Amino acid sequence: MEKYILSIDAGTSSSRALIIDKKGNVKGISQFEFPQIFPKEGWVEHNPNQIWLTQLKAIKEVLKKTKISANRIHSLGITNQRETTVIWNKKTGEPVYNAIVWQDRRTAEICNDLKKQNLETIFQDKTGLLLDPYFSGTKIKWIFDNDPSLYLLAKNNQLAFGTIDSWLIWKLTNGKQHVTDVTNASRTLIYNIKELKWDQELIDLIGVPNNILPKVVSCSEHIGNTSKDILGVEIPITGIAGDQQASLFGQMCLEEGDIKNTYGTGCFCMMNTGEKIVKSKNKLLSTIAYQLNNKTYYAIEGSIFTGGSLIQWLRDQLSIISNASEIESLAASVKDNGGVTFIPALSGLGAPYWNPKATGSIMGITRGTEKGHIARAALEAIAIRTYEIIQNMQKDANTTFTNLKVDGGASNNNLLMQIQSNLIETKVIRPVFTETTALGAAFLSGLGSGYWKSLEDLKDIWKHDREFLPDSSENDNILSNWKERMNILY
Ligand code: ADP
Repeated sequence: MEKYILSIDAGTSSSRALIIDKKGNVKGISQFEFPQIFPKEGWVEHNPNQIWLTQLKAIKEVLKKTKISANRIHSLGITNQRETTVIWNKKTGEPVYNAIVWQDRRTAEICNDLKKQNLETIFQDKTGLLLDPYFSGTKIKWIFDNDPSLYLLAKNNQLAFGTIDSWLIWKLTNGKQHVTDVTNASRTLIYNIKELKWDQELIDLIGVPNNILPKVVSCSEHIGNTSKDILGVEIPITGIAGDQQASLFGQMCLEEGDIKNTYGTGCFCMMNTGEKIVKSKNKLLSTIAYQLNNKTYYAIEGSIFTGGSLIQWLRDQLSIISNASEIESLAASVKDNGGVTFIPALSGLGAPYWNPKATGSIMGITRGTEKGHIARAALEAIAIRTYEIIQNMQKDANTTFTNLKVDGGASNNNLLMQIQSNLIETKVIRPVFTETTALGAAFLSGLGSGYWKSLEDLKDIWKHDREFLPDSSENDNILSNWKERMNILY
């Protein structure tokens, strides 16, 4: 009987489960959104139990709708929103606080304090990251500062910390496994990406109790089995990677210099730098891309916090569209942006600005401004932020890219992809299957469980759908307004 891989994609806005066959075909997908919690200006939380319950529901539904029984799942892979921080009680399995989401800016002051002590270079040298609220370390500290009784519990070995991968594996194994993989660990600000271990100096600087930390594993190995009471059979868990790393893998960006950009809630551009760590001189991050067969591969990354979430904001808060895909026809209803620039700093500004306190603006509005102009300026804003990253990445890599592979929900927007190609003056390539994050997790799991024997088996799975070729005639207008207005603000 044919067997399959179950891929769990625990995203920022929804929990997804996919079943994938040996040829990389998706047999079924289930997806459930969960609430975003905004308790205060700049704060973003998730309820970890809602993440788990929607994830479990998605897993059960996809098995049911594909009529594939759990005993036909060869192995399971997990990919997840990174940096989002959960602390739970090891005895009860209950979270002690909501998950603090990667977009959350509440620890800006903690980061500032560390910067004032001139500690950024130490953190950057050891972790490849910068001191920004984005990463998990300061979020952990905030939870303990907020409720010191939790610190005592942690000292007494009663609490566990994890990113969403750790949390879901804890739940799936009924508390048997407390692990994370190297890619997720590399986003915590306390993991040394050269020495490949939790870094005691950084742990002490932030003030994290050692005994809450998960064991770190590679991206592709047998970690444990799902508990029998969850799906009736035990399924081997054999792959983990943070979402952006999984998408790099799913895009088959496996050679040095291969590059992809994901247009999800945020946008994340990543270039494989092979087995060497490239330290950015242009405010990008160095991070672990994946660890496979005892080899560690690295990447350079540009993280943009507001991507597709800008479109979500236009839908949910301004109601100028009723679903995300409508933004394309609205933006195409006007011939240009009409002089409007959208500064998409809805969760501060990530690379290369790293300004957690930045806020968004819509500039250049006149009596003639229409909804279409705002929509077009919003798409341009997503593409310009990516253009800025690509410019810096080319400088760091000392090369000019010949193409950019794209994926994520908003990469289905043809106008956005065309604007992107125009701005970076480079070919943009979109694969047939844009859920490359889930595909990457499936590949890692399948390699770890022997479902696929080697990378060679995966080579024919990635198929390209459409290419966008650059036409740079409009760029000057768009970019000169942007630069002028950004200079006024930041
Ligand atoms: P995540 O994995 O971060 O949850 P997805 O890859 O599922 O995100 O992409 C969802 C995001 O993409 C949402 O923020 C949504 O607003 C945006 N989006 C979806 N379709 C489109 C579209 N056609 N045009 C622009 N944005 C879109």
